[in-house]
Amino acid sequence: MEQNEFNEDEFINKYKSFLTNGKTERECCSLIVKTAEKYGFRNINDVKELKAGDKVYVEKWNKAVALFRIGSDDIQTGMNILGAHIDSPRLDVKQNPLYEKDFVVYMNTHYYGGIKKYQWVTLPLAIHGVVCKKDGTIVHVCVGEDPADPVFCISDILPHLAQKQMKETAADFITGESLDVITGSRIPPQSDDGENEKTDENKKPEADLAKKNILTLLKDKYNIEEKDFGSAELEIVPAGTPRDLGFDRSMILAYGQDDRSCAYASFAAMIDSNDNDIVPQRTQVCVCVDKEEIGSVGATGMASHFFENAVAEVVARLGAYSDLTVRRALNNSYMLSSDVNAAYDPQNGDLYDRENASFMGGGIVFNKYTGSRGKSGASDASPEFIAMLRNTLDNAKVRYQMAELGKVDQGGGGTIAYLAAKYGMFVLDAGVSVLSMHAPWEITAKADMIEAYKAYKAFLTMHNS
Ligand code: MN
Ligand code: MN
Repeated sequence: MEQNEFNEDEFINKYKSFLTNGKTERECCSLIVKTAEKYGFRNINDVKELKAGDKVYVEKWNKAVALFRIGSDDIQTGMNILGAHIDSPRLDVKQNPLYEKDFVVYMNTHYYGGIKKYQWVTLPLAIHGVVCKKDGTIVHVCVGEDPADPVFCISDILPHLAQKQMKETAADFITGESLDVITGSRIPPQSDDGENEKTDENKKPEADLAKKNILTLLKDKYNIEEKDFGSAELEIVPAGTPRDLGFDRSMILAYGQDDRSCAYASFAAMIDSNDNDIVPQRTQVCVCVDKEEIGSVGATGMASHFFENAVAEVVARLGAYSDLTVRRALNNSYMLSSDVNAAYDPQNGDLYDRENASFMGGGIVFNKYTGSRGKSGASDASPEFIAMLRNTLDNAKVRYQMAELGKVDQGGGGTIAYLAAKYGMFVLDAGVSVLSMHAPWEITAKADMIEAYKAYKAFLTMHNS
């Protein structure tokens, strides 16, 4: 992907491959680290000193990662930061998940992030994640993606018996607790006369023969015991790969595009900024964090000290560490909070203020503010910063649109912008617009992916002079 010969098809294919292989925050983090190393980024733990032009990454628990390319300016004058999140809505497997009920074996789940629960039934599902064993080994699990793999599924009631269900509200007719995934089944063995042997203890439902069979399979294949689920992190996601959408192939239908569309475009822009060997003036950063969908909490979310600590580690290796240097570096930074926006949905146009909505294919979306009910929870970007960005993007001939998420008081949402803004840096939400956001299969326009990439790349070299 040289700057002069940017190949759009190749970029889209790489994006689809990122979505295929990165269906959890861990998988995305691994992909980012692996690719970054290929492009000369070193783990900061292996680096003693840093100078202009050097490239390092800081990683936390394989769930959050920050890439730095050191600029020629003093880091105290600030960095240009692209920040995205790599977690997506999904179903998490509980710690005591397996149970058998009337000959069917289920895995109990607790949903993660904002989902419409009814969208998750009757879909092929895959299980991704890790099982950490007491002896320290980590078993990596990925079942349901290879065409030869089995998949998993949540059943729904047939229409013939759904009279009562169809009268309930969409919020209620599939409950969170009922989102349990079918993982096995058995038909009870028959006796010689062809009838079920009711007296045989082994043939009673409570004998849990099907569940025991599943546990044997898990032991054989992964060497895990039932109790090992207690120290596992298994995520259930839609099975399958991204597809081109439409006769004209103008769109992509895929799981996890909130926010991997922006995470990938940011990461690709960061990597490709190496195309020329010119050292950037301002230090360039791409940070991809976890837990945005549940409030940016935890040690790997943006509300943690992960990013601040990463900057401190960088400053220390530049040989000028002080608390004040770190604070100044953060305070004087520019950041694009690379997160998605709801694309205007022509079938539900009344939910949007059309003049202030983002359209699929209309370019990267600037959200001056997010939030809800009177901008509550928004960081509200400074117009001075937006003007700088307009200038940068116009000069780079990048298409962008100004929008907010929906009509006033219709709902709302948040991003990581306000968490970066607390350091005093300039932050603006800027990302790809998504149709059916948070659905198992989300829609984006390829054109927007390309504009986002170009915008992020132009932003990385933006400076005041
Ligand atoms: Mn998001
Ligand atoms: Mn989201």
